[in-house]
Amino acid sequence: MSEFTKTLCPYCGVGCGLEVSPPAQPNKATNRDSKGNPIWRVRGDKAHPSSQGMVCVKGATIAESLDKNRLHYPMIRDSLDQEFRQVSWDEAFDLITQRIQTVRFTQGPEALCMYGSGQFQTEDYYTAQKLFKGCLGTNNFDANSRLCMSSAVAGYIQSFGSDGPPCCYEDLELTDCAFLIGTNTAECHPIVFNRLEKYHRKNRKVKMIVVDPRRTPTAEAADLHLAIRPGTDIDLLNGIAHLLMRWGYIDTLFIDDCTSNFPAYAEVIRHYSPEVVARQCDISIEDLETAARYWGESQRVLSLWSMGVNQSSEGTAKVRTIINLHLMTAQIGKPGAGPFSLTGQPNAMGGRETGGLAHLLPGYRVVKNPQHRAEVEDFWGLKRGQISPNPGLTAWDMITGLETGDVGLLWIAATNPAVSMPDLERTKKALLRSPFTIYQDAYYPTETAAYAHVLLPAAQWGEKTGVMTNSERMVTLCQAFRQPPREAKADWEIFAEVGRRLGFTKEFAFANSAEVYAEFVQLTGDRPCDMTGINHEQLQYQGPIQWPHKEGSKRDTKRLYTDLRFHTSDGRARFGAYYSKGLAEPPDPNYPFVLTNGRLYGHWHTQTRTGRIEKIRSMHPEPFIEIHPRDAATLGIIDKQLVEVRSRRGKANFPAKVTKAIAPGTVFVPMHWGALWAKDAEANALTHPESCPDSLQPELKACAVQLIPVFAE
Ligand code: SF4
Repeated sequence: MSEFTKTLCPYCGVGCGLEVSPPAQPNKATNRDSKGNPIWRVRGDKAHPSSQGMVCVKGATIAESLDKNRLHYPMIRDSLDQEFRQVSWDEAFDLITQRIQTVRFTQGPEALCMYGSGQFQTEDYYTAQKLFKGCLGTNNFDANSRLCMSSAVAGYIQSFGSDGPPCCYEDLELTDCAFLIGTNTAECHPIVFNRLEKYHRKNRKVKMIVVDPRRTPTAEAADLHLAIRPGTDIDLLNGIAHLLMRWGYIDTLFIDDCTSNFPAYAEVIRHYSPEVVARQCDISIEDLETAARYWGESQRVLSLWSMGVNQSSEGTAKVRTIINLHLMTAQIGKPGAGPFSLTGQPNAMGGRETGGLAHLLPGYRVVKNPQHRAEVEDFWGLKRGQISPNPGLTAWDMITGLETGDVGLLWIAATNPAVSMPDLERTKKALLRSPFTIYQDAYYPTETAAYAHVLLPAAQWGEKTGVMTNSERMVTLCQAFRQPPREAKADWEIFAEVGRRLGFTKEFAFANSAEVYAEFVQLTGDRPCDMTGINHEQLQYQGPIQWPHKEGSKRDTKRLYTDLRFHTSDGRARFGAYYSKGLAEPPDPNYPFVLTNGRLYGHWHTQTRTGRIEKIRSMHPEPFIEIHPRDAATLGIIDKQLVEVRSRRGKANFPAKVTKAIAPGTVFVPMHWGALWAKDAEANALTHPESCPDSLQPELKACAVQLIPVFAE
């Protein structure tokens, strides 16, 4: 038997397979860290089909985070100005169940909220849905995926009748034209980019187009970089569509047989002439034409996008406008082609499958659909009507619910909203008003722990066995290779125990996570994400599987919609017809710059893990603000000088990085630094919560700011 345990990297949605083994000689001093903990060996899993043995710096160094700043015991305090005191699990569970019951019977179940995470394994997600949406009767479960990819979910549902990325990573190596928009793939999804870039380098005829206001490492590798003005994505996409139509690159047979609503779309794109689009996007007509020609002349076109598209007040419209291009040119349902959203978190996809957003139910069902509710109620053995017909509070709604007093209990797990939410000052003030906050996490301290009344120690990566699904619908078993430290427990075990103590003993009689998963997949039967043919044992012995994978099926499903039938009522994909609205907060004379933000290669989100890994800290020692030399000269800012950045909501300070990588009029800051890691350098002190009306995803990517150089006294 191999000494290596197969698992998955717990950082990003690429979902790279890892193999982990204990140190060869655990007692040797060099095999232990400064605190005496064994240093685990991690390597890429060559047999994992998604990553083929590759890992980036985050995956390679992940083991270092296992024993750093762990939360070991349940802790409670009566008010936020007190110190925490260690308690037993019994005492913590008693307090939590008593508070849940009090809120439930005084304010009603709608005052109970859970804010979870794409870091959850599928079993954690599922158990939480059953507890909140089923047993407690509130849909107030939302996850940090709301901030990450809910626009992609809404876009897929509206265009195809169901969620689900239709493509697979193999398409990266089969395409003729890769169209990357709103994604710095080289830094944020490094192994996806490795696969694409290697293929692109070897095949000079393959074109790569990158759309991004920054010249990122991704843009450096492109044949064509379109540095559009922030917020003009729809203008650009409609402009490309205009030219494809004008030059006769559209597939009328496919449009007639497989789609609906094309006339409305054609009417919209008629208005997006190259002259209008070039002016609006601040690019040349030649570059726009080159992009349209690359697309139109390619047999197979693959689009990739992530947060740069999703985190927008018109995020769903942007997603659908990308999909429109694929529909008008029949670039879907075949190898090397299709619209492909990249998920940020390792198991955001599992969250979608289990219904882990406030408007969803397990098995790609939606709360608003009475038949979907009835199916889940029957399966869970609930009375008809027990699942609320109202979508629950989203992440931002929970913050405003704290402000109004409508939220009586907030349970936050595996996420750090005191750094990652928009409008941080408002967020923090709201968290201070919370009558009762439970914070469940593997690490302590974090910025959010400061707002908690109860801390619950969670087992993390490598300490619990469960399933995660990556961006290409590849389902992997993440096997535990060590015990959780001290009293930490798996998230699903904590949710199940609370459920049992609330009286739902039958509902949560799971002996292990394999039983949780086995129950969950039954809810996916005959649904678009059918996983009835997948279980823990099979994943362990046969390796990862791509869904849909029905019971009894022998093969994975690499691509969706190969039969060109969609999940809409008429089987046709729907064109969405959108005019561009632009940014929710455009620049003006008082706030003349657009601030955009993003991720760096080594860091992960709010640094809960990566901030504790020396190699990554030394790669990215401090935050910065990228400013174009022309803007810097106008404001008298020199390289490395401290700059105060102000928006209508708050301010932050960053050392200047004067660079032509950013377009004039736009500035960029990384989003990783919270109050624990740097003073006054929180990107989200500046951002606003204006959201997409369909996906309710906030426009974290752009806000208007002013820049003030800070001079030493
Ligand atoms: Fe982990 Fe993503 Fe890096 Fe792969 S690309 S090793 S999943 S962080």
